[in-house]
Amino acid sequence: MRDNLVEILVGEVESSLQRYNQSYNGMTWREKVLLLVNVVGSIKKLGVNSNPLAARVGARERLRLYLVEHVNIKLTATELQVVSGISEYGRRIRELRVEDGYKILTGASNDPESGIILSPSEYLLISKEPDLEAARRWRIANRIRRETQGGSKAKLLAYLLENVGQIITSEELAYVAKSSEFGRRVRELRTEEGYAIATKFTGRPDLSMGEYVLENAERLSQPHERKITFAVQKQVYERANSSCQMCGWSRVKWKKNDPRILEIHHVLEHVCGGANTSENLIVLCNRCHDEIHAGRLELPEQLL
Ligand SMILES: [Zn+2]
Ligand SMILES: [Zn+2]
Repeated sequence: MRDNLVEILVGEVESSLQRYNQSYNGMTWREKVLLLVNVVGSIKKLGVNSNPLAARVGARERLRLYLVEHVNIKLTATELQVVSGISEYGRRIRELRVEDGYKILTGASNDPESGIILSPSEYLLISKEPDLEAARRWRIANRIRRETQGGSKAKLLAYLLENVGQIITSEELAYVAKSSEFGRRVRELRTEEGYAIATKFTGRPDLSMGEYVLENAERLSQPHERKITFAVQKQVYERANSSCQMCGWSRVKWKKNDPRILEIHHVLEHVCGGANTSENLIVLCNRCHDEIHAGRLELPEQLL
């Protein structure tokens, strides 16, 4: 049946091209174009039927099968267009990437650190197995983006709360927030609302630029510890070498399930006139921080 279909399509292409060749000089421009449209239509069907099993499924699934069968091989855009039989194959590939979690690289978003060089019209699937965690995250991001009421700050908070302890990229945050202003909103969540959102500069030197982690959903900083500007926070963490100034704990010493995080503490309490300046601020792990506030620990003299 399928072989028969292929024969018919090839026959159509051959006879159309023959007619084109024979009467090229006698045809109007439009007649020529319409004949070529026939050829293109038959060729497109041939592409879809190039694999009998894949011909039975939709364009997106056909692309997926082709990519998986040719993992780690550079594929051209034209090739994928032929396989899919649609001109919007690019959108389907994007769906495979973000919705299903397939790691498909393109030259359009080349990652120089991967060491793989692709031209803008090349695609490369780097693993047969989709990243299900990335796909799950994308579904959450998409739902929050559509359904969470309020501005971009509310959407960002909802997304961070769904991913406590996980590394989130600025790309994800920009998508959720529907705004390039997401960085400012994230800072507000940290400095004004007290959420323990860490970055490379605020307690998590192990992170890369553009990565964020909400370290703990319950642990909001005290009102007196909010309103410290990002610049001052960064300076205080830097000076402390991103470690607790009481016990020396830092992320470098972190082991799985260690609940500790780093926080900023006012040496002279804000209510007693202590300022939000770096001279009055130190970095503590939350364990030491709680002990200090409970009066069970005292700051050593060199920190006063
Ligand atoms: Zn404190
Ligand atoms: Zn400590």
